[in-house]
Amino acid sequence: MAHIDAGKTTTTERILYFTGITHKMGEVHDGTAIMDWMVQEQERGITITSAATTCHWNDHRINIIDTPGHVDFTAEVERSLRVLDGAVGVFCAVGGVEPQSETVWRQADKYRVPRIAFVNKMDRTGADFDRTCTMVAARLRHRPLPLQLPIGAGETFRGVVDLIAMRALLWDDGGLEASEAPIPADLEEGAALGHERIVEAACETDDRLLEKYLAGGALTPDELRRGVRRGTLAMRFVPVLCGAAFKNKGVQPLLDAIVDYLPAPSDVAPVEAIDPRSGETVTRAASDTEPFAGLVFKIMSDPFVGHLAYVRVYSGALASGDHAYNPVKRQSSRIGRLLKMHANKREEISELWAGDIAAIVGLRNVQTGDTICSEKAPVLLERMDFPEPVIRLAIEPKTKADQERLGQGLGKLVQEDPTFRVHTDPDTGQTLIAGMGELHLEILVDRLQREFGVAANVGRPQVAYRETIRQAAEAEGRFIRQTGGRGQYGHVKIRLEPAPDRGFVFENAVVGGSVPKEFVPAVASGLEEAMEAGYLAGYAMRDVKATLLDGSYHEVDSSEMAFKIAASMAFKEACRAARPTLLEPVMRVEVVVPEEYMGDVLGDLNARRGKIQSLEGRSGASVLQCAVPLSEMFGYATELRSRTQGRGTYSMHFSRYEEVPKAISEDVVARVTGTSRR
Ligand code: GDP
Repeated sequence: MAHIDAGKTTTTERILYFTGITHKMGEVHDGTAIMDWMVQEQERGITITSAATTCHWNDHRINIIDTPGHVDFTAEVERSLRVLDGAVGVFCAVGGVEPQSETVWRQADKYRVPRIAFVNKMDRTGADFDRTCTMVAARLRHRPLPLQLPIGAGETFRGVVDLIAMRALLWDDGGLEASEAPIPADLEEGAALGHERIVEAACETDDRLLEKYLAGGALTPDELRRGVRRGTLAMRFVPVLCGAAFKNKGVQPLLDAIVDYLPAPSDVAPVEAIDPRSGETVTRAASDTEPFAGLVFKIMSDPFVGHLAYVRVYSGALASGDHAYNPVKRQSSRIGRLLKMHANKREEISELWAGDIAAIVGLRNVQTGDTICSEKAPVLLERMDFPEPVIRLAIEPKTKADQERLGQGLGKLVQEDPTFRVHTDPDTGQTLIAGMGELHLEILVDRLQREFGVAANVGRPQVAYRETIRQAAEAEGRFIRQTGGRGQYGHVKIRLEPAPDRGFVFENAVVGGSVPKEFVPAVASGLEEAMEAGYLAGYAMRDVKATLLDGSYHEVDSSEMAFKIAASMAFKEACRAARPTLLEPVMRVEVVVPEEYMGDVLGDLNARRGKIQSLEGRSGASVLQCAVPLSEMFGYATELRSRTQGRGTYSMHFSRYEEVPKAISEDVVARVTGTSRR
């Protein structure tokens, strides 16, 4: 995981390269290596986008899950962190710990993921290993434990001192393997100090090591590694390594450290789950003999094999041909092929075991976040929570054929991406797609065009407002048609009231059967559909409690349909009196700019209805936290760039929904109803 540009992709590519060549070492030295390199690199550029890649190092299997750096893809980060056991934070030795790294790092704290840090780009001018370590302590509030010292920095960066084995590792420019050497004289003192720090850290975690140390015994490198491993797993500190992935320096020691210090699935505490039959909490340990349980953390459509469901196995085993149960969908399905994804090939496997990460082909009707498990011992693993989409746009297919392709494409994309939603505007019949940000929707539209061949007119991205009510109100709805033959009869009385942060709540308070039981679900679904359709301007409503108070029925003419329509009529009537209000998404925005531009940037944010929350200095730059309505943030990237001569950066996340000021709300309603009732 990393900030954009820290070198995550390059480091991953090198890892795949080095783990690949351990199996076919001969090819590297035959002179064409450089060409091979480039071709493979291109191939990998694509395969890395696969949700999980498997490689081998020192008789261990490593599954790599990539976490994207851009905030529009927080869902991706969230789900990666949910299923992985350990993480490598990649930092740039020049930029150090940047705002986005802080964000992912905090997400990893939330899931209690043990970490090591890799300080990359040591070959760049201005690279500073110590400063980056200090920033880890100050900004991430984790104790850094350097396991290496860089030898040289910037142009002179040649290798690292291994502070555990107390030796130097040097790489020639263009060379791939390190050669061992004694520690350079000018680093001896620093190395001794660093070694001592590791000894102390190892003793902290292991009393036997402490006893041996106090008795005057020297700890062996293996003992030190054991101690560092314990401390890393307990998250007492973060081992820090360094290198320059682009120059092939420091990658093999990083792989060693992943094996030595990050947890195996069996090191991780048993996962908690709910038994859907009893509602009780149960646990599943990472053992092959427990009942099977796995979490589907990503769905992807693949041009070669079709529909891939990536699963992390928490317990038990699963073979192709077995049946697996999906407690969310209450459906059992037969497992087709099982695939392990490598950098440049897919390997068909016959079985999955506890701790595995692999893809299942052809698992129908499954969505990201679903559990699949043994039907005899079903469990529900905690679902991943994804933020609600805040931006939407209209998409209009050009022809009837495009309309069909659009439908298919949207169906697939929705299944893949839990933060992507599709709905139809009830007034205009237009298809609206909603997502996490401008970039997110741009990429989805591009995929619709390229992968699904949809030609369409695309509207401008707009804020996905919400609606709610501010006071309680009651109303009746009657849907009665009785003119000869079988008629329609539905009649309800309801009360609506605000229910902050509760979505939609329904209560049936009817006594004496004035609305017969069998029609109550129809009333609830009529209300729910009316919520979706909104009242003021067609935006979905939230945080409303509806109570069914009373009503009446007719022996012959009453039907579910009639009650559903009556309920939705009552809903609209009650809304009118319930102070309907428009809500807008408000974003948490962090802006980092050189101090001299701060005044200007602040002024601009004020004009955008921003509320400043904090302002602090960080080595020459100012860091500003504020809350700004999303509707005011369109085009901000360009604006910030021009105000700061390209030196300012910002990131933003959804924070909460807030009431839209009256004047603006009236504008929005007029605009939407004006165009949609054309
Ligand atoms: P990501 O956005 O974190 O995946 O970063 P990339 O791997 O795409 O790297 C961003 C840029 O930094 C690319 O131009 C890389 O070539 C470059 N880069 C990556 N690692 C290094 C390194 O070790 N040294 C130098 N000088 N550049 C690097």
